Amino acid sequence: MNEPISRRDFVNGTLVAGAGLLLRGKPNEVSPEDAWTGYGGVGDYRLSNGNTWDVMSAAHAMRDGAFESRITSAIDTGETYDCVAVGGGISGLAAALFYQKNKGGRCLVLDNHAIFGGEAKRNEFVVDGQRVIAHQGSAIFLVPKKGGYTDRFYELIGMDRSAFTYQRWGGSAPEVPVPKSPYDEPKNYGFYFGPTFGQRPGVWVMQPWERALADAPISDVARTELMRWRTVRDDAPRPRSEGDAISRQLDTITLEEHLMARHGIGRDTVRTFLSPVEGGGYGLGPDALSAFCAYAIETQFPEDGDDSLGDQMFPDGNSGFARLIVKTLIPDAFAGKRTVDAVWRNPVRFATLDRAGQPTRIRLGATVVRVEHEGDPAHASHVRVTYARRGRLYRVRARGVVMAGGSWTTKHIVHDLPALHRDAYAQFYRSPCLMANVAVRNWRFLYKMGLTGCRWFGGLGDYLAVRKSALVGGVPPTFGPDSPTVLTIKVLFAKPGLPIGEQGSRGRTELLGTSFAQYERAFREQLGDMFAAGGFDPRRDIAGIILNRWGHAYVNPQPGFFFGVDGKPAPRDVLRNQPHGRVTFANTDLAGASDHRNSIREADRAVKQILDLSA
Ligand SMILES: Cc1cc2nc3c(=O)[nH]c(=O)nc-3n(C[C@H](O)[C@H](O)[C@H](O)COP(=O)(O)OP(=O)(O)OC[C@H]3O[C@@H](n4cnc5c(N)ncnc54)[C@H](O)[C@@H]3O)c2cc1C
Repeated sequence: MNEPISRRDFVNGTLVAGAGLLLRGKPNEVSPEDAWTGYGGVGDYRLSNGNTWDVMSAAHAMRDGAFESRITSAIDTGETYDCVAVGGGISGLAAALFYQKNKGGRCLVLDNHAIFGGEAKRNEFVVDGQRVIAHQGSAIFLVPKKGGYTDRFYELIGMDRSAFTYQRWGGSAPEVPVPKSPYDEPKNYGFYFGPTFGQRPGVWVMQPWERALADAPISDVARTELMRWRTVRDDAPRPRSEGDAISRQLDTITLEEHLMARHGIGRDTVRTFLSPVEGGGYGLGPDALSAFCAYAIETQFPEDGDDSLGDQMFPDGNSGFARLIVKTLIPDAFAGKRTVDAVWRNPVRFATLDRAGQPTRIRLGATVVRVEHEGDPAHASHVRVTYARRGRLYRVRARGVVMAGGSWTTKHIVHDLPALHRDAYAQFYRSPCLMANVAVRNWRFLYKMGLTGCRWFGGLGDYLAVRKSALVGGVPPTFGPDSPTVLTIKVLFAKPGLPIGEQGSRGRTELLGTSFAQYERAFREQLGDMFAAGGFDPRRDIAGIILNRWGHAYVNPQPGFFFGVDGKPAPRDVLRNQPHGRVTFANTDLAGASDHRNSIREADRAVKQILDLSA
């Protein structure tokens, strides 16, 4: 553990074994860019793990105005589109799909990554000859109500089942329950109190709730309050629909105030123990969030979800949906029929994405740097969209533009954005998140400890769960402690006590200022400490680590975000209700809740607004 890791492991160690690492410098020399981005895995997503160095640098150059002096000399591609979607996440892809469905015509989706999908992407490893896959961000979906909005959209994109069948138990060891999503809390669960609670390695408390947190190195007050939070039934009225009196009242207070009052617990307990799990893991401290955050998604989609089937997950999370949308838009983007199995298993045919003449083109590695009407936005017939690609600037024209990239970039790009919209976007805060996928050769160490999931307090991240995979496209039918798997660790950067903007920017400084090697060492040390009792040896058991850095991962609504303050409209409603000339606004963040269904719904509305212009 004390050997220097950075250069040696990065080049010659297990991370490189099986290939995929880009070495742009001399042999055995890692460029500063690669030392930051790190290993990207294999397969379609190997060049697109989170926001890579190239993606981040181009976006920051755009933010800092580095392209401004060159905009007018951008190369005119001569292309005119009916609709351009800025951002190729689920929202931008859905916008192209809605446009094609409702009107037909020519659409272009521009995205700054090496592959479409936005936060809905996958990481892929080959471990001892077996392919193992995990999500980079967007993970789960709920079984949609038959015939409802979500169900109809899934049907539109060829989702050929409403729930998955998952791997069966495999191997000779006695069976234990294994979760099927990273957010499940299985029966065989443990809490680990790390060095910040007084000793290294820290202290495990197995089946913590059943044992009333006995032996946990926490104060009696914290123990009592946590047990109250966990076990006392909460019968207080919940909002029934978005915008009802209860939801509006909740939006006037912080989530922290709400949790304290609702459960009769103290601020310290909320901040130390509940911050990452209560309120949907928005990413910042609950002191910065509107209390309605805890109820937003359930009230936005009351019809979805089947308790008996629980969370559903493609092995690669919601990238399954992004791939299905692309298959629907460009039928030969993947070999085979439009089925979940084919789209999940077959690689993307990148050459098909941006072919001249097809109704929808998807152009990757393109950072949009300016969107501007040709003349007065109220009367202009076209919008000019300028993007940077491999260091050069290009320009296309559009009759309508859907800004689906998110608040954090849209506010910089739309050059003629009115003050009203600018003020609205100034009220959007997004938080950083690191999604680390750690591939392990097997998970016997966890099995020996009696765990298939755990939470920890102190260190990087907060929880993990071993997952059995949905059975799609060639996934092995069984899963047991000897199977290779990927442990996904979500690292949030909540800094309770600081103002909302500062919590996000401090977290981003930390996320962006830490090299791959530093993170790798920290994860190895931490997992080594946590799982030593199960015989875990980081050098032997870790087959690879992929870091997915999302600088602006989650929207973080503050009180007043959802329904406005002092009778003024909520910032999201300003953007939803008032297109700016031929430019409309989408992305999940407009709903104030990060969920792929919001990405879809906002795209649907934004496209209808564009179509209304020509009606
Ligand atoms: C860690 C994490 C876990 C999540 N888990 C879930 C989950 O379990 N279930 C769920 O439903 N949702 C989840 N989400 C929410 C997720 O945000 C949505 O599901 C959905 O993927 C968002 O899609 P989007 O298109 O709205 O935004 P994004 O996915 O952010 O897509 C926007 C795209 O536009 C690109 N872009 C931005 N600016 C520009 C520009 N100037 N030029 C070119 N391209 C640009 C971005 O880089 C990105 O590729 C999670 C999110 C995160 C971060």
